[in-house]
Amino acid sequence: MPCMTEDTTFGPATRIVHHPYTPPDGFVAPQPGVFKASTVIFPNVAAMRSREWKDKSGYTYGLHGTPTTFILEERLCALEGGLQCVLVPSGLAAIANVALALLQPGDEVLIPDNAYGPNKDLANGELARFGIRHVLYDPLDPADLAARISPATRLVWLEAPGSVTMEFPDLCEQVRICRARGVTSALDNTWGAGLAFAPFDLAGDGSGSLAVDISIHALTKYPSGGGDVLMGSVITRDLALHMKVKLTHMRLGLGIAANDAEAVLRALSSIGLRYRAHDVAARRLALWMQEQPAVAQVLHPALPGAPGHVHWQTLCGAANGGDGAAAGLFSVMIDARYSQQQVDAFCDGLRLFKLGYSWGGPMSLVVPYQLASMRSRPAPHLQPGTLVRFSVGLEEVEDLRRDLQQAMGRAFGAI
Ligand SMILES: *Cc1c(COP(=O)(O)O)cnc(C)c1O
Repeated sequence: MPCMTEDTTFGPATRIVHHPYTPPDGFVAPQPGVFKASTVIFPNVAAMRSREWKDKSGYTYGLHGTPTTFILEERLCALEGGLQCVLVPSGLAAIANVALALLQPGDEVLIPDNAYGPNKDLANGELARFGIRHVLYDPLDPADLAARISPATRLVWLEAPGSVTMEFPDLCEQVRICRARGVTSALDNTWGAGLAFAPFDLAGDGSGSLAVDISIHALTKYPSGGGDVLMGSVITRDLALHMKVKLTHMRLGLGIAANDAEAVLRALSSIGLRYRAHDVAARRLALWMQEQPAVAQVLHPALPGAPGHVHWQTLCGAANGGDGAAAGLFSVMIDARYSQQQVDAFCDGLRLFKLGYSWGGPMSLVVPYQLASMRSRPAPHLQPGTLVRFSVGLEEVEDLRRDLQQAMGRAFGAI
């Protein structure tokens, strides 16, 4: 094809900005294109006035979607079994988007005691300032959840397993309670990632008879897989609920960047393989940790005896002798006879496990936590001690095991 004739009545600066060439349609490649826009061009005023931004029937402004973000939304719906998706700049923004969409002064939100910490911080901060109360419930006792639902309760957060301490709740029973009481349930599905269980088909029979109302996902973790993108999603199967989330999303101006969407689209195709690899490695290390004399308790939902293990088995495919699925996270309680300084020295002494927040990337990470400030109630299922959380990356498992061994030997004496 020859180059299109240029309009020589325009100067060169104009000619390059308003260049008339458009490439042929029909380009097909494994990955979708990266469309970048704040401004979207309309053909005429009528189109500008009539074009709808609320559904995926057209394009109006970069914040409201581009072909790249629409494709990512649809693929995430496929991953989690949802019908509508909103993309936000972080997992925490997904939590905030849901809370601000559904709650108003006088309302109550219920949060599990072992929830992702910043969810509670949001409740203590902005939600409290807006006159919204939050109540913490025991994630291991559905009766406690049921008892705490009041006429003012509008939203129940669910997390399976809980952050850091990894208790696996009876998610099905929790959802049944929310359904029976007519309260919206929102699951933080970052750990399950759409792979360990189906949030919109908890019964696992394809009927969708037992489903959360909302699933939020920190795409920062396994969907990104690189430790280099911050993003979140809010997925639903109810159009009216989606529109509430979407309108708040629009009014808050929560957009994501096209290059970030592309990074997640590239990584999403391999999420199943990566998730399985993280899971296999984490279980091997968790089992090895259980044998170590300095370790009082290993918290991993796939280990027999772990808090809520039976619920993990039922929900995550391990009930009939299968391996089930379980992400790449576990925590250990270092025996109470060791001081905080010794536990810090253990973390400092690790060479492959790096000190850093978040998880889901190729590099193994470790974080020591001070649990006392993170829980509102006693947790009799936890051994006394100092908690350390591991996120297992994609390194050779034996190298990781040796790293744990050398750091333990140095910090806690010969083992
Ligand atoms: C990391 C995480 C989030 C928040 O994701 P960001 O993208 O870091 O804001 C939310 N929930 C859970 C369970 C997480 O682990």
